[in-house]
Amino acid sequence: MAKAILVDPAKCINCKACQVACKEWNKTGRNLESAVAYGDLNMPREITSKTWTRIIVKQGMEGKKPYLRFAKTQCMHCADAACVKACPTGATSKDDDGYTVFDAKKCIGCNYCVKACPFQACKYDEELKEINRCIFCPDRRSAGLATACSTHCPSGALTYGDLEEIKAEARKRLAVYSKKFPEACIYGENEMGGLRYIYILQNKPSAYGLPDKPTVPAGVVVWNSLVKPGGGVAAAALVIGAGTAALLNLRARRMEKLEKERIEKQETG
Ligand code: SF4
Ligand code: SF4
Ligand code: SF4
Repeated sequence: MAKAILVDPAKCINCKACQVACKEWNKTGRNLESAVAYGDLNMPREITSKTWTRIIVKQGMEGKKPYLRFAKTQCMHCADAACVKACPTGATSKDDDGYTVFDAKKCIGCNYCVKACPFQACKYDEELKEINRCIFCPDRRSAGLATACSTHCPSGALTYGDLEEIKAEARKRLAVYSKKFPEACIYGENEMGGLRYIYILQNKPSAYGLPDKPTVPAGVVVWNSLVKPGGGVAAAALVIGAGTAALLNLRARRMEKLEKERIEKQETG
């Protein structure tokens, strides 16, 4: 069953427990760019291949009133995913439950998915030679557990559940918030064909650093309509021309060599 997370920034306290839990559970390293260490509420400034989720911090003045807004961000697992459309080899694709997944064996390192993502949530790891992003904790989901980030949120800003129940809860909260906040809205029901993170916002999305109208970049649409799904590098070569295809193939060979070296190292070590 499709699961989702309701993000309610009004309840977020920017404690970054979600970020730490994600790193701990998914073993992406302890390089936590902590607010305490840097004295900067907005750390880290971007999602990286080792930090899959972060809190966007927006602060300023509205008239004479100061505001401070926090919004967790990560791969949204868009139904109409720009990264999937942009990937020429099928390395980035959708699983049966609608989550965006990655297959390192098919990746040629072209980084088209990285450039296509309207949320800057998809990152290439130069060291590991792979694409990384929030994977929506598949091991926990299959064990009947909520995701690590939502489990460890102490303030109720993150609620994990069935997608339809999450949408219903968002509508309930909207009815309350819209009495006081005229710009209150639900974000994620329709954007990019529907997201697996549904936001209940008291202001318009850009007030939280989220794109008001996220879109699949125009070039990506053309690419996708020309390359048949599953057509792989050979089909891509027809569209992008021999020069670029040669580069892609060169990259693919390099990746194969690296993979062989990795396996050899594993076997000897
Ligand atoms: S948020 Fe970006 S990386 Fe995630 S599914 Fe959407 S386009 Fe792909
Ligand atoms: S769902 Fe899992 S992988 Fe995604 S941000 Fe939360 S803890 Fe990280
Ligand atoms: S754990 Fe919850 S309250 Fe803390 S930063 Fe993450 S979303 Fe906000």
